[in-house]
Amino acid sequence: MRRRLKWGAATACGAIALALVPGPASAGNSYDLVIAGGRVIDPASGRDEIADIGINGGSIAAISASRLEGKRRIDVKGLVVAPGFIDLHAHGQDPVAERFQLLDGVTTAIDMEIGTAPVAALYRRMEGKALINFGASASHICARLEVMSDKRCGPDVEGRLTADPAMLVKGATPEQEAQITAILDREVASGALGYGIGLEYVPGAGRREIFRVFEAAAKTKAPVFVHVRSRPPDQGSGVPIAVAQEVLADAAATGASLQIVHVASTGLRDTPAILELIKGARAHGVDVTTEAYPYTAGSTAIGSNFFADGWQERNGATYGDVQWPATGERLTKESFDRFRKEQPDAAVVIHIIPQEVVDRAITDPIVSIASDGMPWITAGEHPRGAGTFSRVLGQYVRERQLLDLPAALAKMTIMPARRLEAVSPQMARKGRLQAGADADITVFDPATIRDRATFDQPMQASTGIAYVLVGGQVMARAGKVTAHRFPGQAIRSDLPH
Ligand SMILES: [Zn+2]
Repeated sequence: MRRRLKWGAATACGAIALALVPGPASAGNSYDLVIAGGRVIDPASGRDEIADIGINGGSIAAISASRLEGKRRIDVKGLVVAPGFIDLHAHGQDPVAERFQLLDGVTTAIDMEIGTAPVAALYRRMEGKALINFGASASHICARLEVMSDKRCGPDVEGRLTADPAMLVKGATPEQEAQITAILDREVASGALGYGIGLEYVPGAGRREIFRVFEAAAKTKAPVFVHVRSRPPDQGSGVPIAVAQEVLADAAATGASLQIVHVASTGLRDTPAILELIKGARAHGVDVTTEAYPYTAGSTAIGSNFFADGWQERNGATYGDVQWPATGERLTKESFDRFRKEQPDAAVVIHIIPQEVVDRAITDPIVSIASDGMPWITAGEHPRGAGTFSRVLGQYVRERQLLDLPAALAKMTIMPARRLEAVSPQMARKGRLQAGADADITVFDPATIRDRATFDQPMQASTGIAYVLVGGQVMARAGKVTAHRFPGQAIRSDLPH
């Protein structure tokens, strides 16, 4: 209730009535806004029909195949009306990143992989200033800094992977493990949406330390999101799925919920085997999910432990596969060493994921879509932060016909919403087009939607998206963002005590 009232107070347009209880409109059957005549696709219910959507305040009040009347009416005939896209892997919790995501149809963007701590600082920084809904997990790296270093995570996300290189390779004592877990629990209790572990970046984190985090997660019921460890060098090019087996074992042994992030970029050619492993675990009752982005390159900080000695062998890569976004150049040993030393926080693009691996992940029914978008610092970061969702709809659905539209939309809406519902009841009103759901809505032309961000020119917004509504407000229209409105809400955990 408090949340809705706050939203009403922040509404710029006084004519928009506040609907505290979603339901049929009152006298005259007139809604605040009607999105009229589009092809309404709600993967959660299977609805796929031409219909009108009546919106009151921030909520969907009615959906009907017959005409609904509204104070405002937007004709979307010939367009698809979908739930706003939900991105659970969005590192750019800032105005620039939000803008590109909004224009890609995203209405909720959360950093579940690395997260932050204290999350209260992030929520304070974004509250009242956000175009789209936002949030983060409790960061294992930040908790480790608090326990094992004099460095701290700030309210921004940069530098988390490189703040204290010595800490990242140091093992924790049992006492320190308990302290790390206690900090993560404190963060989850204060709004963080789960436990975010970037294991590849923290080679010092032992298997027992991670198991303790899963034990904690099983108690709070908040999910664990993991970027799995570096591939063990002794497994060579066989089937190094051991890194996924570690976290699956922890989930199975504790009952914690797990999402293995960006399965294609860490699985590489073993992605099919890792997907089999995940499906097998699911069939035996383990709550595990996974995600991918639709690009053949990854991206991370050049100073991070992804590039610890042996990275070429682990990933089957060379210096020439690494691109320096500021200039577009491919690196050599000399330029790589120089950048790694001088600008450790700068993100590079790593062209190492075979196209067939990306296709396998994106089209698998258990894999949801998540961008792994980075903050835009050099203006040359990976295009995934601007084009992920339109790229799936343009390429995989329309051009290559590898996915049907409702299946693709499920991966961007109800699948990520369900992943967080147990920890945040707010998510039970998102990812759906149903009466009572939040009016987070993306309207696009299936014949023209496409990504425009490329590796050479990443800061280009997607096209073919007609309208994006966040909390009932039209926040984007034909590629233009509405000025001076900030309907984005903090998505917080709300756990039973
Ligand atoms: Zn990652």
